[in-house]
Amino acid sequence: MSTPTTVTAYAAPAAKAPLERTTVERRAVRAHDVRITVAHVGICHSDLHQVRAGWGSEIFPMVPGHEITGIVREVGPAVTRHAVGDRVGVGCMVDSCRVCENCLVGLEQYCDEGPVWTYNSVGKDGQPTYGGYAQEIVVDEAFVVRVPDALALDVAAPLLCAGITTYSPLRHWNAGPGRRVAVVGLGGLGHMAVQLAHALGAEVTVLSQSLRKREDGLRLGADDYRATSDPATFEELAGAFDLLLNTVSAPLDYAAYFGLLRTDGAMVNLGLPEEPVQIGLQSLNGRRRSMSSSGIGGIAETQEMLDFCAARGVAAEIEPIRAEQVNEAYDRLLAGDVRYRFVIDAATL
Ligand code: NAP
Ligand code: ZN
Ligand code: ZN
Repeated sequence: MSTPTTVTAYAAPAAKAPLERTTVERRAVRAHDVRITVAHVGICHSDLHQVRAGWGSEIFPMVPGHEITGIVREVGPAVTRHAVGDRVGVGCMVDSCRVCENCLVGLEQYCDEGPVWTYNSVGKDGQPTYGGYAQEIVVDEAFVVRVPDALALDVAAPLLCAGITTYSPLRHWNAGPGRRVAVVGLGGLGHMAVQLAHALGAEVTVLSQSLRKREDGLRLGADDYRATSDPATFEELAGAFDLLLNTVSAPLDYAAYFGLLRTDGAMVNLGLPEEPVQIGLQSLNGRRRSMSSSGIGGIAETQEMLDFCAARGVAAEIEPIRAEQVNEAYDRLLAGDVRYRFVIDAATL
């Protein structure tokens, strides 16, 4: 019979405190559970927002990490989707109600009861959840996806959040041939958005604060790369885009960006600034523009995205780090100094 295990992890003991090496207990494997040895875990800007208690309602100690890849070590007796030795991934969710109208159509991220997040959340068993900055994680098989052989586990890890968070709105808002997409911010999400929008056949422009990363943007598949610090960008590209994917973690001058949309264009906000934002509705009104937001993607769509990336040779560009470099990596992420995702080698935990 399976027993709980104590595993090494990195946790923030309190809001804004540096992460420390510690241990967490993983539950005994239940009938539908999969025990995974974590191989790699990406550092998402959402980890930073939550460790710094930027969104409210944080639970400490907090073990962040929701871009997880690894190998299945043990499966419960009722598991059918995964087997010992499989290469798998876990993203931002580890459970949901499974019976509401959203869960039933594969939109578990919009579950009526709220999904159980991979960390900083409370499971259906009443226990706090701890994320992937850890040696192992135990997850219900329904929330574990397959990592195709063509994707190495380190460069696949960021796909579990940054990949699906950008793939899902690109699909929903029909990014493809004949559509002009602008990606605002070339960070973890942004560098995936550029690759995915390009692979889907859209014409892609990066809107970055400066031209510092221009070579990278063009190499990743952008057709054009403009600096938002240059007022000419907003004049020359007025009315140019069908879709703006905003990946910026801080508030922007939204009205200026609405001006870049053509009639019926949409600005979809993926970045989740810590402060409330203000917009003047007049700036949307002009061309029946819309402003929206989108949260990660469902489990089936996450699998579809991984298969798409494997087939199209798309993966994250990463800076591999050792676990003890995590606090330094947070500081660098906050300063915008990463190309384009820090990924912790879990073997160094
Ligand atoms: P990231 O790697 O830090 O990238 C954010 C990029 O935004 C930066 O690289 C920078 O790009 C730009 N930027 C940063 N500060 C800015 C400022 N003050 N003004 C203008 N541009 C700025 O972060 P990430 O991991 O991609 O996450 C981005 C945001 O998405 C975070 O708020 C995160 O919580 C959120 N998120 C949302 C979801 C969802 O489901 N919706 C999922 C994951 C993450 P340039 O240097 O190119 O300007
Ligand atoms: Zn994330
Ligand atoms: Zn539900």
